[in-house]
Amino acid sequence: MAVLPIRITGDPVLHSPARPVAEIDDEIRTLVADMFETMDEAPGVGLAAPQVGVPLRLFVYGWTDDDGVQHRGVAINPTLWLSPAAVGEPDEDSESEGCLSFPGERFPLRRSQSAILQATDLDGAAYEVRAEGWLARIFQHEYDHLDGILYVDRLTHPYGKAAFKTQRKNSWGVPGLSWLPGRDHLED
Ligand code: ZN
Repeated sequence: MAVLPIRITGDPVLHSPARPVAEIDDEIRTLVADMFETMDEAPGVGLAAPQVGVPLRLFVYGWTDDDGVQHRGVAINPTLWLSPAAVGEPDEDSESEGCLSFPGERFPLRRSQSAILQATDLDGAAYEVRAEGWLARIFQHEYDHLDGILYVDRLTHPYGKAAFKTQRKNSWGVPGLSWLPGRDHLED
């Protein structure tokens, strides 16, 4: 297993739709193991294949809720069903999210409260997860990565402008940038 470099916004693989996984073979199993290790080292609660430079429709997630229940898995070729998002401004305290490809930053974004994830696991078995709240947010964030969308692309005023300024300040937004969890220190 290995910790993989995480691509930073501007790399084309993050901004293009990924293609379906054709077959779950040893290559995919190794990729998924490496993605779990990378996510845990970062640390993060989700990681999509395009973030490690692989344009395939799969993501891993790992998050423990307030009741101590661990939600952890891999979603291959997922479909995501969403409830309509509430109207209004996002709350900075309870609706701010971050992204390992836009590292060290957090911005608020309104998301759907409920989601149903349908996907294939590493054994090729179909499964379904009904998610609420933060888990539903994780699924929406990771699913967006498979369509080449970063959460900063969805930010509303004035947060979109703030994110753009941050990107410029860090000289992101160009191809070829990455960081390696466990080696590169990130200010948060
Ligand atoms: Zn992300």
